[in-house]
Amino acid sequence: MEQRSIDHSRIYYENGMQTEFDATVTACEQSEGGYAVRLDRTAFFPGGGGQEADTGEINGLRLISVFEKDGEVVHLSPDAIAVGTAVSCRLDRVPRLRKMQGHGGEHILSGIMHRLFGTENAGFHLGKNEVVTVDTRTPVTDAQLREAEAEANLVIAENIPIKAYFPTPEELAGMRFRSKIDFEGEVRIVEIAGVDVCACCAPHFESTGSIGSIKIIDAVPWKGGTRITLLCGLAAYGDHAEKHDSVRRISVALSAKPNEVAEAVENRLAKAEEAKRSLLSLARAMRDIKIECTAETDGCICIFDEFADAEGLRDYANRLAKKCEVAIAFAPAKTGFTYAAASAKHNMRTLAPVINKALSGKGGGSETMIFGSFTAERNDAVAFFERFKPQD
Ligand SMILES: [Zn+2]
Repeated sequence: MEQRSIDHSRIYYENGMQTEFDATVTACEQSEGGYAVRLDRTAFFPGGGGQEADTGEINGLRLISVFEKDGEVVHLSPDAIAVGTAVSCRLDRVPRLRKMQGHGGEHILSGIMHRLFGTENAGFHLGKNEVVTVDTRTPVTDAQLREAEAEANLVIAENIPIKAYFPTPEELAGMRFRSKIDFEGEVRIVEIAGVDVCACCAPHFESTGSIGSIKIIDAVPWKGGTRITLLCGLAAYGDHAEKHDSVRRISVALSAKPNEVAEAVENRLAKAEEAKRSLLSLARAMRDIKIECTAETDGCICIFDEFADAEGLRDYANRLAKKCEVAIAFAPAKTGFTYAAASAKHNMRTLAPVINKALSGKGGGSETMIFGSFTAERNDAVAFFERFKPQD
């Protein structure tokens, strides 16, 4: 295909790897937050199509931001630079590489899903730490994602050339390409032969190998389609290193092989659940004994049980209420204590404010039982109930 020469003032159109360049300042005017510097040529990508702008410096001045205005790249500098000055520019190389990996990976995965399943891409975002999200218009199944991911990594291993060019309107009319928006004016096409043809304005590598790898880390239903989260290259490596460390620690803690930690954790959880059930039945048995062994009294009964849950506290209060004027059971909570208090002889609604006031607590309930929490000391609570003479 005959291709027109591309815009040479934007270095990244031709060469995504060039992160240092010399240029001449063509305009510099005071602007909101700094000085808007324009250059005769730039490697700075001003952001767009889901990808944020590059960061870096001009003549050692750290740029505040880079953006596009009226079809030109604006470099917002903290200081003025005189028009005509020859400047040395350097953009932050590793973030640029990581962004190109994420963006390139998105092209490959979206292209493959489009080819294999007819999936349309409704949106793409390259976020913090180069986490890529791709939103599809129709749902994609887990099996499809696995297939597309495997295929995408093969495309990376094959190191297929990535071509970027500006076709003429006539050429464009005969082309089939993915596009998220309707373009006006010149359209730049980024093509990975046999994989993807997409309208795109961002910097790209020369071939797929530089993307490194693609790993899908999440997929959730999203507005009738699927939101796919993926990591590519260095971002995928960082994620792998972090998760590897985590798996290694679990592996050591559980004495399980690293590739069997999930099973080991599931087994542990099942055992813990079993132990919890045994503990609960033991706690119930202990409660029965405690209640049975508590003598009837014409005063109040106060029981502290470290292990009682809400249900246990209610059970204590209910059953002990038959043996006394007012029965209260309490257990430690995150802060202070949880309590249940019951009576067969007094109106608990009336007693609730008295009890809450004495114990710095809150809570309420029915005429026969109240439930709540308090912050008084354990010994003070016990002492209060030993002396408590309910009057209602
Ligand atoms: Zn793109």
